[in-house]
Amino acid sequence: AKKPVSITITGAGGQIGYALLFRIASGAMLGPDTPVRLNLLEIPQGLRAAEGAALELQDSAFPLLSHVEVTDDPAVAFGGANLALLVGARPRTAGMERADLLQANGGIFGPQGRAINDHAADDIRVVVVGNPANTNALIAASNAPDVPRDRFTALTRLDHNRALGQLSVAVDSPVGDLRGVTIWGNHSATQFPDVAHATAGGDSVPALLAGRLGGPEGARSWLVDEFIPRVAKRGAEIIEVRGSSSVASAASAAIDHVHDWVLGTADRGWTSAGLWSEGAYGVPEGVICSFPAVAEGGTWRVVEGLEIDLFARHRIDASVAELVEEREAVRSLGLI
Ligand code: NDP
Repeated sequence: AKKPVSITITGAGGQIGYALLFRIASGAMLGPDTPVRLNLLEIPQGLRAAEGAALELQDSAFPLLSHVEVTDDPAVAFGGANLALLVGARPRTAGMERADLLQANGGIFGPQGRAINDHAADDIRVVVVGNPANTNALIAASNAPDVPRDRFTALTRLDHNRALGQLSVAVDSPVGDLRGVTIWGNHSATQFPDVAHATAGGDSVPALLAGRLGGPEGARSWLVDEFIPRVAKRGAEIIEVRGSSSVASAASAAIDHVHDWVLGTADRGWTSAGLWSEGAYGVPEGVICSFPAVAEGGTWRVVEGLEIDLFARHRIDASVAELVEEREAVRSLGLI
């Protein structure tokens, strides 16, 4: 039998954790032939909720689930881990300054980076979901000097999937026929959802939009005034309509991210992922930035050579500037 893949989920007693665990255990993330072992990390006050979820996992009798461990000790949780989904984070609360937010998350992601460095398996792959995700990933990576940088990623797949959902309606095409959409930059309000290179069933999305919206100008205003802000602010829209935050779609996106990283993007074209910048598209080295990316053989690779027009350049630069500011802030706090 195949050896189980060991997966650590932090904040496993929270909302997103609850939506993640059952889908991972059912095989949605790594496929129907790969047994999984789940290590659930929580802070002491979250342990009971995680233990409750573990009872329900047992009651689901998933054939692929080999073992569930619940702990508040990072050394135990990351011991031998092949994959880690870092979900637990310190949310911004009313009146909180950015420095306080970064400091609080440094206290979570610094020690987790060190525990990953010291205890995880050599093939460890990490995706950070907890916000501010890009900078939390940077903190974890910087505290894990023995782990290759490219093993630390941040989730921008939910933004990507939201963009696909909006476009699918706008050009009346099934999501599965869309290619070439990119989320650039930070997982924040400055992110840039870019459709300049997108196609639907092989046809140019900008041309389809122009056809439906009275020409290129109509398409441009729809993108600037509706599409981009709607994708970037979709989280707030969900909270308003649903009465609580987007949980199932966030978990689903995390599963998509790991699925594609491990099993490859194959012929589905590129997706978006927050990756350690090596300087592509003029993004300074050493920030974790969302790029167009394909995965093959367990490695993400930035899709290079796309033409970036002036409009896109400004948007990318603005979001990257925010990432650089966050990096400088955590640097001055001594977190990296
Ligand atoms: P959620 O499970 O709803 O959210 C967890 C993290 O995911 C937050 O940082 C949140 O950011 C982020 N997130 C939420 N929605 C989205 C989205 N749509 N897209 C991308 N990211 C999103 O929070 P809960 O409070 O229910 O659960 C958090 C759990 O983490 C608690 O059980 C807590 O005890 C635990 N925790 C564990 C730690 C550890 O293991 N060491 C450390 C800290 C907390 P945002 O706040 O911006 O929505």
